[in-house]
Amino acid sequence: MHHLFLSPHYDDAIYSCGGTIAKLAQAKQQVTVLTVCAGYPTSASISPYAQSLHDRWGFSDHSAVNEMIEIRRQEDKNALNIVGADGLYFDIPDCIYRHGEEPESWFYQSDDDIFGRLNGAEDSLISVIARSILDIADKFSPNPNNIRVYIPLTIGNHVDHQLVRYAAERAFGAETLTYYQDYPYSKDREQLKNYENSIDWASTINYLGEEDIYQKIQAVAAYRSQISTFWSDEQAMGTEVREFLRAWGNGELFWRYTPTL
Ligand SMILES: [Zn+2]
Repeated sequence: MHHLFLSPHYDDAIYSCGGTIAKLAQAKQQVTVLTVCAGYPTSASISPYAQSLHDRWGFSDHSAVNEMIEIRRQEDKNALNIVGADGLYFDIPDCIYRHGEEPESWFYQSDDDIFGRLNGAEDSLISVIARSILDIADKFSPNPNNIRVYIPLTIGNHVDHQLVRYAAERAFGAETLTYYQDYPYSKDREQLKNYENSIDWASTINYLGEEDIYQKIQAVAAYRSQISTFWSDEQAMGTEVREFLRAWGNGELFWRYTPTL
């Protein structure tokens, strides 16, 4: 069995299901993490919103952005190395850099935008991604029964997470997919209510051993540039990740869409 985890950004798959990835690799299963929004900005100019984020991150210019993306890719390779998974990367830029055909026609220009609805003009991008992931799955195995695809449930509603979910659903059909809970957004249990209360969705817990949990925490720590965004330090991260797993009985929760009608 080949396990393909789709990660909208560097770190989403490891944050959300790194213990499961480690456990599968340990059981000698083939595991690949494909990061979709892993590319460089495609145009020389950026939006005022992206600029404001760069200012917050302390970037002076464009070359600093490219450097950051290179650092993040190296962090991802280190993380995947720890859990024993392979990495693949698409060259699609993060939503804050994407735009329409007209100059300066930025799709997402505020915090509200990036946690709002996916821009309708991105429909063609959904199809491009859908075709590309179908090609990858086909290369792994022409028999779809030999491949399991894991995608974000889109807890937190980030547009890049929606992009990946819609592309995978277009490629494979929702009923064939395994959905993971986007961490750290999934710490907010309220956001899970829609799924918990729906008869069309079923969850299962993948229980982890101490070694899987240890490897997950090591892999999360490998995204060094991200620690300060979410935690006060590495130790606080380890404690929190462990506590979150404990809340699910030392496991990671996955969802399947099982429509009753
Ligand atoms: Zn993300």
